[in-house]
Amino acid sequence: MASGQYLVPASLFLLCLVSTAVSHSIIQLVSGDRKIRIDDDLYCDSWRFSVETNDAGYWSTVPARCERFVQDYMTGERYLSDSEIVAEDSLAFAKSVEIAGDGRDVWVFDIDETLVSNLAYYEAHGFGSEAFEETTFNSWVDLAEAPALAPSLSLYKELQQLGFKIFLLTGRDEKHRNVTEKNLIYAGFTNWERLILRRPSDEGKPAIVYKSEKRSELEDEGYRIHGSSGDQWSDLLGFAVATRSFKLPNPMYYIS
Ligand SMILES: [Mg+2]
Repeated sequence: MASGQYLVPASLFLLCLVSTAVSHSIIQLVSGDRKIRIDDDLYCDSWRFSVETNDAGYWSTVPARCERFVQDYMTGERYLSDSEIVAEDSLAFAKSVEIAGDGRDVWVFDIDETLVSNLAYYEAHGFGSEAFEETTFNSWVDLAEAPALAPSLSLYKELQQLGFKIFLLTGRDEKHRNVTEKNLIYAGFTNWERLILRRPSDEGKPAIVYKSEKRSELEDEGYRIHGSSGDQWSDLLGFAVATRSFKLPNPMYYIS
């Protein structure tokens, strides 16, 4: 009986010790003022919110403390789930569009991290925590083995069935046209209306300018751009924007 009386306070003490240790790893008061140090998962989740909403604006690499967080996000269920919701929202809007039947109703897709995934490349390069290296990335592109993002492939096919013409607008160069077409077909994408790549005259233009100009040219041709899908805000903002723009998740890199 006596040992039982001591057992409860002892276990409570242990519980307090553990919970204190856990809470200190999450939030720690610094020098008595209101500044707090937040643990990496919480910080990185907030950082991801900031970059996905474009509040962060330009950023160059994933913070070192968030590499593991981004890895877990990209390779776990969350990335796929987020992508599925984007596709569902896109399809819900697409179904509300009245298709004229004149072949001028358009949906614009970006390619990288929108239709196909380069995750295999980024897995080998720190999930965006390393500085981007064009040479090695182009070697990966030349393989033409980037798989489809499954929710985007489903959306792509459903949009075609609804009567949308699909335009692909990518920051890749013209010199990558053949491997890009090869990769798209490998990944299951077919029957796009046009694949638009950067020409020499587009070199040096920020993506947001280049893509806006290309959308504007489509509008000048009489196309109505109802929807646009991209993993970068520079795919979606600028001028000649779509009626609705759909931002796919990408916490690995930023293109302005
Ligand atoms: Mg992209």
